[in-house]
Amino acid sequence: MKYALVTGGSRGLGRAVCLQLAAEGVPVIINYQSNRSAAEEVLAQITERGGKAELLQFDVADINSVDSALVDWESKHPDDYIAILVNNAGIREDNLMIFMQNEQWDRVINVTVNGFFYVTRRLLKSMMTKRFGRIINMASLSGLKGMPGQTNYSAAKAALIGATKALAQEVAPRKVTVNAVAPGFIETDMTKDLDMDSLKKLVPVGRFGKPEEVAELVCFLASEKSSYITGEVISINGGLYT
Ligand code: NAP
Repeated sequence: MKYALVTGGSRGLGRAVCLQLAAEGVPVIINYQSNRSAAEEVLAQITERGGKAELLQFDVADINSVDSALVDWESKHPDDYIAILVNNAGIREDNLMIFMQNEQWDRVINVTVNGFFYVTRRLLKSMMTKRFGRIINMASLSGLKGMPGQTNYSAAKAALIGATKALAQEVAPRKVTVNAVAPGFIETDMTKDLDMDSLKKLVPVGRFGKPEEVAELVCFLASEKSSYITGEVISINGGLYT
């Protein structure tokens, strides 16, 4: 059976992607780092609606944690493989560069860039041998435009976009597609401390996006319908262009 793995599936955009994929009949692996109760709530919603899902805890930025969780999953699923990977886990540690601490720089780069590398490398082989795979990377408007106060986050998301374009060319002959989604302001825990009333005036649509709106795009890219789209970065930002 083909499974989808959503990193950071316990909250926000990842949660919405898990719910939407499961509603479309895809068995989902909900990854989380520490918030088990939020992940369990996603699992419960999926199973109540007749979907199939399971939890898999690991820290995407820790190679040992990634490898041991995925080795364990594979040993319990000898006839299944992860055909859809949504690299969604991400964090913000904003600061002006002049004040930025080494740890703030390292944490954001580690989760976004190293996390993408550790999880994706681990899953590529089975996608390539089975000749079907979908990799969707959660980038950001910040990775396209650059945002003041977010040099770490903008650098990490720009790196993810570069990796998306390079990997897409490596694996295209094996029917594995690799795309990035670049949201603007979306209502989640990550943006709850922002001044929504003033920021939404910058958005032509006049509001922040909903996680479900991003999930629709991710699910299209995860489907067989998107087979001729690869190496793309698709913005979803209510018209807030760079
Ligand atoms: P969020 O509400 O803060 O949720 C973050 C999720 O990532 C949680 O499920 C969290 O797990 C997980 N996570 C964090 N670090 C992790 C790690 N080291 N290993 C595994 N999981 C980890 O964030 P969000 O707004 O949904 O953002 C999701 C993605 O979209 C991020 O990559 C973010 O950069 C990107 N994005 C968001 C926006 C926006 O406006 N919200 C805009 C552009 C891009 P726990 O629950 O266990 O903590």
